[in-house]
Amino acid sequence: MIENPVPWPDGARCAAAITFDMDADSLLHLEHPEDSITRVSGLSMLRYGPEVAVPRIVETYKRFGIKQTFFVPAWCIEQYPKAIETMLEGGHEVAHHGYIHENPTAAGREEEAYWLRRSIEIIERATGRRPRGWRAPLYNFSNHSADLLAEEGFLYDASLMGDDVPYVLRTGKGDVIELPAHWGVDDWPQFVQSMDLDYMMPIKSAAAGLEVFKQEFDAMWEYGGLFVGVWHPFCTGRLARWIEVVKLIEHMLEKGGVWLAPMEAIAAHVKKCVDDGSYTPRIDRLPYYTERVSVMPLAGGGAKAAE
Ligand code: ZN
Repeated sequence: MIENPVPWPDGARCAAAITFDMDADSLLHLEHPEDSITRVSGLSMLRYGPEVAVPRIVETYKRFGIKQTFFVPAWCIEQYPKAIETMLEGGHEVAHHGYIHENPTAAGREEEAYWLRRSIEIIERATGRRPRGWRAPLYNFSNHSADLLAEEGFLYDASLMGDDVPYVLRTGKGDVIELPAHWGVDDWPQFVQSMDLDYMMPIKSAAAGLEVFKQEFDAMWEYGGLFVGVWHPFCTGRLARWIEVVKLIEHMLEKGGVWLAPMEAIAAHVKKCVDDGSYTPRIDRLPYYTERVSVMPLAGGGAKAAE
């Protein structure tokens, strides 16, 4: 089913990473700049992430002896230094997730580059190391993102959805490893309901939501892919859901043959395999399009004319 599985370390069948995007209340300030500070209930829902969920998540990881990745907007790093300290004490990776969850596809190249670089500096100051990975806020990867990531020396991106296995983004400035995910492994469609954020899903039970992720993981295990959970502390770090996550991690470990690692380690392994020729990845040259794809109006209306 997967034509070119990666040779994972120690003969593992598949690789898996649980990634948490600690957006906290950046989302609300971006969505409602004029009155975000008066939306106190919404703020409290999002602040649950850094204040309650992150310590819980890190504690569980410690119990299982695993290291994972947190993508954090730089503004949240400045706002919630204690949560970042907790991540670092646990030995986890802190990766780049924009400044305040801004949308790169709505910015020009210069503006995107400015926030990318400014946030690199903040991460470097807080963690003592330059970030190696990036996930575009809300998967808003722009036509300039790949180029800018290569220019800034990023090892990997975690925003795209083009495959079941890692692949290579080729740009004029160099290559970036893509560690893909998709909406099926994201926790928003399962659990998030927020009028403030204009996102209203019928909330699933914790077990039903996690069952979706378990199926995604089991498929990757069967065929040698890469499972990447794209979760949010304020959402999946809630108590009932976290109980189910613990069961999912136990399931992964009991199944065996799973390389559960931070994204940076997975990307470094893939790069090594590409360099030594043991893995031939798919290569996507970005951007896909350099000019607008225009659809000329057809006589009698597009859809009708095609019938
Ligand atoms: Zn995010």
